Amino acid sequence: MKVAQLQVCSMNNHQSTPGVPSQVFRRIDELHALIDVVPDAMVVIDRTGAIRSFNKGAERIFGYSEEQLLGENVSVLMPSPDREAHDGYIARYLETGEKRIIGRGRVTTARRRNGDTFPIELGLGEVEIAGVLHFTGFIRDLSQMRESEKLMHSLQADLAHVSRISSMGSLANSIAHELNQPLTGIANYAGAAMDLLDDPSPEDMENLRHAVSECRNEALRAGDIIRRLRTFISRGDVELEIDSLRRIVNAATAIALVDGDGRDVDFSSQFAPDCEWVLVVPVQIQQVLVNLIRNALEAMQDTDSKRIRVYSMCEGDGMVRVSVSDSGPGLDPRVAERLFHPFVSTKSSGMGLGLSICHTIVNAHGGKIWAGPSELGGTEFSFTLKRADLRDADG
Ligand code: ADP
Repeated sequence: MKVAQLQVCSMNNHQSTPGVPSQVFRRIDELHALIDVVPDAMVVIDRTGAIRSFNKGAERIFGYSEEQLLGENVSVLMPSPDREAHDGYIARYLETGEKRIIGRGRVTTARRRNGDTFPIELGLGEVEIAGVLHFTGFIRDLSQMRESEKLMHSLQADLAHVSRISSMGSLANSIAHELNQPLTGIANYAGAAMDLLDDPSPEDMENLRHAVSECRNEALRAGDIIRRLRTFISRGDVELEIDSLRRIVNAATAIALVDGDGRDVDFSSQFAPDCEWVLVVPVQIQQVLVNLIRNALEAMQDTDSKRIRVYSMCEGDGMVRVSVSDSGPGLDPRVAERLFHPFVSTKSSGMGLGLSICHTIVNAHGGKIWAGPSELGGTEFSFTLKRADLRDADG
């Protein structure tokens, strides 16, 4: 029954689409049963951008029926600026053959029938149907993913920890104060010991021993303060795990975009296949990425063309480099030198703690973090992580 209806739709559509061979529609109809059981949303378009197939999953997340969309331009499923630019993207690809997003997954935004914008993970491919080029899009609704719900819960559970790290900046002063005491003590006792050594007499030996012993005690006290600080930053009960960088980036992107600030942003990600696995506390690296992506979104608020690119590269020494690049205005020279220090901010409501937290977390993972100009015209933040050898996980 459904197939018959679809055939009617396709035929109707066919009649309104001169130049499309009828065997293409027959082939798509034949593929329908298969396309409909794909659990994710799947949309097939032709080289003009017209929708040729819109499966059940797509109906569910976009709120349109297939009947309503067959023959319509796929740009109806996109918010601006993709909506206006999409025909141009296809035309450029057909002309140059340059694969900017085909064959890669990326997180972007889509538009439901009711006008809501929501984050999606999009996988684009190309396929020949009856000898005619078509494009396929697999779409996963990130706002609905149970996984992202779970993620939110785990994030909430970790919030106490994260806020502990966040308050680190404000604690820096009192820690400096605490450290100052033993250091002053060490200097005083060492000074006294030196005086005694200037003109040593046997009866001063006990005082000398006392001064040196106090020096040692004060040094141990300073060490203790530093150890407490370390425990405070890297929660004692967590261990590094092997995880997929792609999964962590996608989760972080979803969180940053779910907030709704991701509208109008062209977001893309690209991962070096040879260094996909990393050794991390996933929620902490997620936190770093959320901070960097949110900063990029905030920096581009007044920028016309908003682009964010997250990509990874294998580095020497068993490390992976992860970069978050944006097309914003670049770094303000007033903060560029002290970016990773606490309380450095150009925002009226900014705490200036985000990057200092990122620095702490990346350092605790044995990596480095730095910033520089981006090829997209704005800023690029990069950090390194330890690569995990999957053989470690097996054995
Ligand atoms: P906050 O966001 O609260 O200001 P951060 O430590 O996250 O604190 O950032 C510090 C400062 O670094 C920001 O105020 C901003 O001036 C600058 N900054 C961070 N990310 C970017 C970026 N992607 N582009 C331009 N400036 C940035």
